[in-house]
Amino acid sequence: MLEIKNITVNYESRPLFTNLSLTIQRGEIVALTGPSGSGKTTLLRCIAGLEVMDAGTILLNNNDITNRPAHKRQIGLVFQDNQLFPHLNVSQNVGYSLKIQRVAKQTIATKVHEALDLVGLSHLADRSITNLSGGEAKRIAVARALVAEPEVLLLDEPLNGLDSELHSRLLEDLRALLTARGTTTLHVTHDHAEAATIAHRVLDLRQLFS
Ligand code: ADP
Ligand code: MG
Repeated sequence: MLEIKNITVNYESRPLFTNLSLTIQRGEIVALTGPSGSGKTTLLRCIAGLEVMDAGTILLNNNDITNRPAHKRQIGLVFQDNQLFPHLNVSQNVGYSLKIQRVAKQTIATKVHEALDLVGLSHLADRSITNLSGGEAKRIAVARALVAEPEVLLLDEPLNGLDSELHSRLLEDLRALLTARGTTTLHVTHDHAEAATIAHRVLDLRQLFS
């Protein structure tokens, strides 16, 4: 489904990773671990189309998307710090990618409602984004990433910095949601227990170089 072949990224002519390859099957949840600074976020940004690669190819459903702009890749990304838009309310944040794609207003409203339902927050539709708890903001970031029904979901340490009770609750909800929908997912975490709970397969970034 998602094939990453021999990608290389250099920063200031120093290689961050060289010939990194990874294949993820449809519906598979893969957790990716690795030390801080090893390039996990950079890899997700490459897959999402937010990073310029020095070499390599990315295939999605056998189509070469290496040079396709981010908004045309059908890949959802949840950033480590959510990166919600402070000037938009909850519904507008969730519907943002659909608006960019010029989806009809009524369709956006329906899909936003469904996505908020999915994360259990339909009652917050009109809430200001600056007025959310940490757990709510995280759920909104997940809803925003899923609203356009991406082929692949990328999660960058999504449960960092949450207290342990909220962490377990969100992890279980996320696992149930992704499993029920059969969402193909790459979940980055440095927490090995979290990786083992959510993923079908756990890999360390350092295993991916050839
Ligand atoms: P991780 O997510 O595994 O902690 P990152 O992908 O964020 O790692 O970063 C990997 C390394 O690349 C770090 O040393 C970081 O400082 C460096 N790096 C990240 N982005 C840039 C950039 N735009 N320019 C130069 N160096 C960068
Ligand atoms: Mg990172």
